Amino acid sequence: MVKAVYPGSFDPITYGHIDIAKRAALLFDELYVVIMENKKKSYTFSVDERIEMVQECLKDIPNVHVETFSGLLVEYTSAKKINVVIRGLRAVTDFEYELQMALANKEICDGVETVFLMTDKNFSFLSSSLVKEVASFGGTISQWVPEIVEKKLREKFKIQIEVK
Ligand code: ADP
Repeated sequence: MVKAVYPGSFDPITYGHIDIAKRAALLFDELYVVIMENKKKSYTFSVDERIEMVQECLKDIPNVHVETFSGLLVEYTSAKKINVVIRGLRAVTDFEYELQMALANKEICDGVETVFLMTDKNFSFLSSSLVKEVASFGGTISQWVPEIVEKKLREKFKIQIEVK
């Protein structure tokens, strides 16, 4: 049985992430979608909010497990005996960072292979930051995120606008 982990911030999950998760779930027996919590990063959504959204969006894929982890990815993969890390690639701009991370993970933990899936042509420009930017100005985002995520974004930015 080959297990894979798809780690990310998922702040919030978009159709770009969902597409990668669906395709990876077809390639591997078990897919662990892991919401990483890096204390040095600041997130728009809490871990609990991100878990709720990811779980809801991926609930129809039977071999997907949603988890959270705070620490080095290789600690997670070693503990779970997972050798495959899935990452999505959009533009060339993703490449340098992803290459660095993939090589670093391999250096720290020799058995770990990073498998890159190319973005879907419809989502090549899509990122969580873009969705948040547009949502913060009240723009349409339903083409980029499922309903539950749209609702959470609207709530988040409505509260912020009211506080100002
Ligand atoms: P991180 O902070 O780890 O980069 P993200 O949630 O931004 O977390 O991204 C997680 C993974 O999903 C990354 O490999 C990223 O390249 C990929 N990803 C994000 N958006 C898309 C998209 N639109 N198409 C393909 N892959 C994507």
